[in-house]
Amino acid sequence: MTPTEIVRYIQGRLIVSCQAGEGEIFRDPKLMSLFAAAAAAGGAAGIRANSPADIRAIRAVTDVPIIGIDKTPLPDGFLLITASFESARALVEAGADMVALDCSERGQQAGALERIREIRAKLRVPVLADVASVEQAVTAVGAGADFVLSTLRGYTEETNHALHFDPKFIEELVRASAVPVIAEGRISSPEQARQAIAAGALAVVVGTAITRPTEIARRFAAAIESEHARRHSVRHTIGLDLGGTRTKYGVVGSNGSLLFKAAVETPARSGARALLDHLKRVAQSAMKKATELGHEPLALGVATAGWIDDTGRVAYATDNLPGWTGTPVGEELAEASGLPVAVENDANALAVGEKYFGAARSLRDFVCITLGTGLGGGCYVDGRLNRGAHSVANMLGHIPLIPDGVPCSCGLRGCLEPYVNAAALVRYVGDSQLSPAQIIAGANAGEQRAIKAIRTLARHLARGFAAPVSLLDPEALILGGGLVENNPILISALSDELPQFLRPWENRALRVIPSQLGYHGGVLGAAALAFERRSDFEPASRRLVPTHIHR
Ligand SMILES: [Zn+2]
Repeated sequence: MTPTEIVRYIQGRLIVSCQAGEGEIFRDPKLMSLFAAAAAAGGAAGIRANSPADIRAIRAVTDVPIIGIDKTPLPDGFLLITASFESARALVEAGADMVALDCSERGQQAGALERIREIRAKLRVPVLADVASVEQAVTAVGAGADFVLSTLRGYTEETNHALHFDPKFIEELVRASAVPVIAEGRISSPEQARQAIAAGALAVVVGTAITRPTEIARRFAAAIESEHARRHSVRHTIGLDLGGTRTKYGVVGSNGSLLFKAAVETPARSGARALLDHLKRVAQSAMKKATELGHEPLALGVATAGWIDDTGRVAYATDNLPGWTGTPVGEELAEASGLPVAVENDANALAVGEKYFGAARSLRDFVCITLGTGLGGGCYVDGRLNRGAHSVANMLGHIPLIPDGVPCSCGLRGCLEPYVNAAALVRYVGDSQLSPAQIIAGANAGEQRAIKAIRTLARHLARGFAAPVSLLDPEALILGGGLVENNPILISALSDELPQFLRPWENRALRVIPSQLGYHGGVLGAAALAFERRSDFEPASRRLVPTHIHR
């Protein structure tokens, strides 16, 4: 199809984005094709879809033009839309009529402009530029883009403050761009779609509001819970979870309801100053959202990698966040937000989250473990989080396991972490092409090699955890993190292995249980922390008692 033919198809019409991310309930090409068929039946004149597999399935059920994209994670963990010419070719071969690619700063640094020329010249399909600013649109059109899409507004470092669809941005794009503009990004109602056309857009892409049932349910749940909270004086805090790749944040009620949540990229490599400014922007955006929902947040909780002293300063952080050690996070954020701020190590914060809203609500002694790229943990002793004499307690990943064993990220050899993290699981399977999620899926489907690898990991974990269990005599080990999600085999294997390493075993009723907090556990943990510290300043009668769990 030529750009002119495409225009004839989609002018003044709706395009529906049918996507489900890794781990989402509808992540299946067959199901995506049904969403596309339903959208077309409802009046969609085009479909936007991710990956050759989805596009092939969608092409089989509908004739409408397809905008193909490929969201493959780069080695640094970031997702870049259609990051290579080869991925564009695979999309077209699968049936895409045109290809969209990331033309933001990051996309351009990764060669987007050259890719526009190459795709047009060799694949002979129209190219659509996903942008976040007028400047990026002008540059992409200069390089030959046939259409401009507002897709990335709100999703880049410079624009992540923009939480809502803004028709003014469409107007600016239309004014500055020599090619047609298609509105996309955060369009969540027919009224906003209408505003996009009024602003001069050629067509409008709507995704989440039509094809993500979980998000649609969440919007209704949030509206209901928000109003209920207002009527029953539930209090709220803001939780920020600063991760190495993503910063998640949200507004959390004292009953554990997550009224709002969002995630933006973390500028992890940009140094402490940029990270602090980033956190301040995110905090302000969350406070604004809380106000919109009709709640005045009581306090702000921050969960971050690194170990945090009593004043909210980073006592020690690894090179994952260069320059973070020594940063007075609590003080700076308190000044910027005007709220009381509690800062805590992310694994410790998760333990607080489990205690307030999760699997540990009725427990006084437990060890909370996060297992993923690394191994983190938080220990509750007699109802209180143990923070140690120097704020560096709970370094569970660096319990010595094997004399002169494999090197650890901390500089020592033979620590527990490199025997039980994601890299270890891949090593035990012996196939470096497989991702941990694929290995876990394989084990659940009965693959012996994958099951054996998980058991090996569980055995090391049991041996390592004999130390904290012997020391603390907890009621439960609570496991969360990427390696634990959808991994019941690990939970039961760890339960099976533990008795071999612990004496006396029969005196203990030690349980191994999965985390109940889910993907936004860090946000819930940070918010719980804010409730916990906040109550230190309040008279006992006014303390906030969490009532039930919900996420
Ligand atoms: Zn170590």
